[in-house]
Amino acid sequence: MKAQDLAMALPESIRTSLSSNNPTWEHWGCCIACHKLLGYKEYAILGRTRKFRIHCDCEIEHDKQQRVIQERKARTLEVQKIFNRLNLIPDSLTNAGFKNFQQREGSEKIYEIAKGFYRNFENEKFGYVFFGTPGNGKSHLARAVQRSLDADGWPTLFLDWPKLSELARRSIKDERINLSAIVRAAIDVDLLVLDDIGTGWLTDFEFKNVAFPIINGRQNKKTLYTANLSPERLEAWFASDKDGKALDEDGRCIDRIIGDCKFVHNKATSMRRERARIID
Ligand SMILES: [Zn+2]
Repeated sequence: MKAQDLAMALPESIRTSLSSNNPTWEHWGCCIACHKLLGYKEYAILGRTRKFRIHCDCEIEHDKQQRVIQERKARTLEVQKIFNRLNLIPDSLTNAGFKNFQQREGSEKIYEIAKGFYRNFENEKFGYVFFGTPGNGKSHLARAVQRSLDADGWPTLFLDWPKLSELARRSIKDERINLSAIVRAAIDVDLLVLDDIGTGWLTDFEFKNVAFPIINGRQNKKTLYTANLSPERLEAWFASDKDGKALDEDGRCIDRIIGDCKFVHNKATSMRRERARIID
């Protein structure tokens, strides 16, 4: 009887008992998934006989997946090392998730897109720019995507633009802030959320050292941007500083964002405004 047939004759629950790591047996069983005969093969190398394990495709695939998981873990640890002491997430978004998202009229579409993006993350080709009025749940959903992917073991980062630009300004005088390490991590992660891009005025320093390197470095990677500005106003935000001095006249930032992302206009009303109406 061949080992495969023997394995198939056994109840599935005990087929694994054929697995043994004993190199003295030429064959010691077969894979319970693909039924390939497993064992050892002898090769003569430089006059010495060596035994090599025969692997089936499932084992190879399993090992490959394990290596991917290990590699993601290592990169996540690297990112955590840099960001441990830096708080770049607004307090209101710390625990934002899909479950505690408050649906409201107009928010159904963006909610479905965010959830679908998370579920299908590995196969998604584009990132997104969620734009619309402040306080309508864009950042909450972007944070929900990032937290969910983080829980699944993906290297991710959530960076609030106002906090990031403040950190960039501080880094000029405070040499403990390693801005280039922050930028490198933001480029390296599998998902970056750049929240509230287009807030305040962009400075020459921030453009050259933060905005452009990150956006340029993330070409062909998945990024979620949230913005209160329309695509046209976002382009203008990149184009010049508050004194009208040119920063990104050629629209390199917005071109790269357009190339890598789909824009979603979140038409949901602002939660803050809704609350305000009730108070009225
Ligand atoms: Zn197999």
